[in-house]
Amino acid sequence: MNQEPDSLIRQFRSDAAVVTVDTLQALREALGTSRPVLVPTMGYLHGGHLSLLEAAREHERPVVLSIFVNPLQFGAGEDLDSYPRDLAADLEAASVHGVDVVFTPTVETMYPAGPPRVTVHPGPLGDVLCGAYRPGHFQGVLTVVAKLFNLVRPGVAIFGRKDFQQVVLIRRMVEDLNIDVEIAVAPIVREPDGLALSSRNVRLDPAARAEAVGLSRALAEAARLFDEGVRDSHVLIAAVRAVTDTYPGLELQYASVVSAVDLDPVSRPQPGDVVALAAYCGEVRLIDNVALGSGH
Ligand code: AMP
Repeated sequence: MNQEPDSLIRQFRSDAAVVTVDTLQALREALGTSRPVLVPTMGYLHGGHLSLLEAAREHERPVVLSIFVNPLQFGAGEDLDSYPRDLAADLEAASVHGVDVVFTPTVETMYPAGPPRVTVHPGPLGDVLCGAYRPGHFQGVLTVVAKLFNLVRPGVAIFGRKDFQQVVLIRRMVEDLNIDVEIAVAPIVREPDGLALSSRNVRLDPAARAEAVGLSRALAEAARLFDEGVRDSHVLIAAVRAVTDTYPGLELQYASVVSAVDLDPVSRPQPGDVVALAAYCGEVRLIDNVALGSGH
C-alpha cells in the first residue's frame, strides 16, 4: 500500500478544523497531490457512516468525506425530495471523527451540463436484486462514484457492507476499468434490536419502526439455520418469509441467496454466500443482508 509522506498527513492532522469545500477548485487546492481515504456518503450521518470514518482514520492518509445526494441514482417516484438532509449536524460529526476535508458539491458542480451523457453502465449485475426494482440506480451510483474517484483521487475508498450489491459493483468497476484505488469494506452497524442503521430510518414512524426489526430477525433466522447445517436456499428463503410474514407492516420485495462475488443465485449455499433482501416498511424502502457462516 502506498503511504502518504508524513508531512502531508501532519499538515492535515495538525489542523483540527475540518476544511469544507464545495467547488472542484477548492477541493483540488485542499488535497494537493495527496491520495486520501475517501468515504462517499449522501449525508445525514449515522453510526454506520461514522464507523467508515473510524476505519478511514486507520489509514495513514488524509480522510475525505463526501456528502452528495446524487439525483442520478434516484428513479422517478423515489425519495430524492424527501431524502433527509442536515449539513450542519454532518459537519459537526465530521469534525469530531477526524475528517480532514468534507466535499459537499452541489448538483450543478457535479453535473454542470445536466445529467451526463456518458455514464458507467453496470452490466447484468446492475439488473438483479435491488437493480430489478430500481432501474438505472446502479448506473447512477457507479457514475457518481467514478466521478468522485477522479475528483478526489483516493488511494483507498471505504464502503459499507450494508449496501452489499453496491460493494460488488464498485469492486467490479474498479477491476474492469483498472481504476487505481483500493476498496475497503466495513461491517454493517445495527441498532441494539438489529435494525441496520440507515439515513432513511428517520422516516419510519413508531409503528413502522417496530415492524422494521423483522428484516434483521428474518436474516438472523436464515443464518441460524445455515449454522445448524441447512444447505438449501429454498429452505432459507422460506424461513426468511416465515419471519417477515409475522410483521404485517413489511412488504418484502425480494429475498435471495447469492454469491458474494458475482451475485449469482445459489441453490446450495456455502459459507460466505449472502442472503440479501429489500422490503417496504410503510413508505420507506429498506435493505439488509447477512453473510452466511460469518457468525453474523
Ligand atoms: P449512504 O449515505 O446511504 O449512501 O451510505 C454511505 C456509505 O455508508 C455506504 O458505503 C453505505 O454502505 C455505508 N453505510 C450505510 N449504512 C451503513 C450501516 N448501517 N453500516 C455500515 N455502513 C453503512
